[in-house]
Amino acid sequence: MRRALAAAVVAALTLPGCTVGVRRSHAKPSPSPVSTSPVPVPECATTYAKPDPHRPKITLRFDGDDEHPGEVVHGSETVVFTPDQAITEVVFRLWPNNPLAREHGASMTVDRASLPTRTEAAGGTDDHPTLVALTLPKPSPAGRAVTVSLDFTFALPKSSVDRWGRTANTYWWGSGHPLLAWVRGQGWATDPAVGLLGETATSEVADYDVSVEAPSSYTVVGNGVMDEPMTTGLRWRRWHFHNPAARDVAVAYGRMSLRHSVVSGIPLTVAVSDELASGADAETVFGPVTENVSESLRAHVARFGKFPFAALTVVALKPIASAGVEYPGLVMVGSKRYDVVVPHELGHQWFYGLVGDDQARDPWLDEAFATYAEALFNDSADRYLGALTSGGRVGEPMTYWDHHRDDYGRVVYAKGAAALLTARDEGGAAAFDKLLRCYVAKHAYGVVSPADLATALAPLPKAVQVLQEAGALP
Ligand SMILES: [Zn+2]
Repeated sequence: MRRALAAAVVAALTLPGCTVGVRRSHAKPSPSPVSTSPVPVPECATTYAKPDPHRPKITLRFDGDDEHPGEVVHGSETVVFTPDQAITEVVFRLWPNNPLAREHGASMTVDRASLPTRTEAAGGTDDHPTLVALTLPKPSPAGRAVTVSLDFTFALPKSSVDRWGRTANTYWWGSGHPLLAWVRGQGWATDPAVGLLGETATSEVADYDVSVEAPSSYTVVGNGVMDEPMTTGLRWRRWHFHNPAARDVAVAYGRMSLRHSVVSGIPLTVAVSDELASGADAETVFGPVTENVSESLRAHVARFGKFPFAALTVVALKPIASAGVEYPGLVMVGSKRYDVVVPHELGHQWFYGLVGDDQARDPWLDEAFATYAEALFNDSADRYLGALTSGGRVGEPMTYWDHHRDDYGRVVYAKGAAALLTARDEGGAAAFDKLLRCYVAKHAYGVVSPADLATALAPLPKAVQVLQEAGALP
C-alpha cells in the first residue's frame, strides 16, 4: 500500500484531471521501452540471489471462532529461527495494534508463549503493544536454531481501506499474525508503529506453511499455492497453502467468485468479493483486472526480472475502493483505477516483496519504486515530474510523515518517483535499467538500505546526484 495508500494517494494528489473509472477503449499507449542496448556500465549479475537457506521456517494456523466466525481469529505460530548474530530474545511485531487499526476496532493479543515475554508499546499502548519479545533462558549463538511458539487472538477491524478488515461476508488481512522482526545482518526491527495509513513492518523472507479455518460456505485465498480445502466439521473447512520465501502472509475469505488463468507463465487467481460484484457483474471486474495484471506483469518482468513468486492472487474488495495493498504473491484492489493501482501494486512484488526494505525507516524504497514502475508502464511520467521541484525530502522515515501527513503521498510517492524517472534520464535509460536489474538480483529476498541503492547506481553519478538532491539518498 502499500498498503497503503498506494496509488490512490498519488492519484488524489497528482492526477486531478485523470479519468477515474474510465477504461481504455483500445490498446494502451506504448509504454516507455525496456532498454536493451549495450550500456557503458560494469557487468553485473542479473540472476536472483537465492533465499537464505537458514531463513526462518514458520508454521501458522488460523482457527475460526464459533461465536464470532470471521470477526475473531485464533492463531498459533511455531517458528524455527536460525539467527546470524547471537540473540537473547525473539522479537515479534503485532501490527494490528497500530493506532489506525485500533481506531477501527482491531486488536491482537498473545495468549500463550513458549517462553517468558516482555512487551513494548512501540507506537501502540501498554495494553495493546506492537512489540512482544520471547526471552531466551540464556543467550543463543549465531547459527544455532531456536524454536519458539505462541498462540494469539486477532480481532479484525470493521471495514476500512487497509490491509485488514471485515464486512458482512468478507474478511481479509495481511500482517495478521505476530511477525518475526529479524533482518539478517542488522538484527531486530523495532521501529514504532504510526497512525498513518502506510506500512511500517520489516521482516526477512521465511518459509511459510499456513492453514486457515473458515466457515464452510466461504472461499479462501492466500499468498501461496492453495490446496483443496478439507471439511473439518459441520460449519468449517480448513484451507492450506505454502510460500517458501515470503516476508509476510495475507489471507482473504468470504463469499467470492474466482477466476483462474496463466499470465506470463504465472498462475493467476482473481478473486472478486460478492459484495463488490457477483454473477454476470463480476465480469466487469475479472476483465479489467486480468487485462491490467497481464500487461503489467509483462512490462515489469521485462524491466526488473522474472516474477519472484510461484503464483499471484489478486483480491478485489469493495472497501479498498480506489486504493491497493501489496503482499508477496497477493495484492488487494478495490473497484476502480485498476490501470494505476494494478501496475503500482505489482511493482511492489519486486520492491518490497522480492527486494525488501525497512518500511518504517525507508518507505520510499518501495513506494517510490512502485510508483516509478507504474509510471513507466503507463508512460505517465508527466503526472509525477512536477513534484520533483516541490519541497520535502524523499528519504524521511514514517515517524516524520506521521507528523507531516499531508505531504506523505506527494513526497514519498510522487517526488520519489519523479526523482527515479529523472535519474533514469540523467544516467541514461539503458544503463539505469541494467543497474536496477542488477540491484534487484543482488538483493533478491534480502532487505536493503539506501546505501545499497547508492552502491548499485554508483557508475551513474548524475543519477545518484538527482536522488541526493531529492533527499532520497544520503
Ligand atoms: Zn504502494
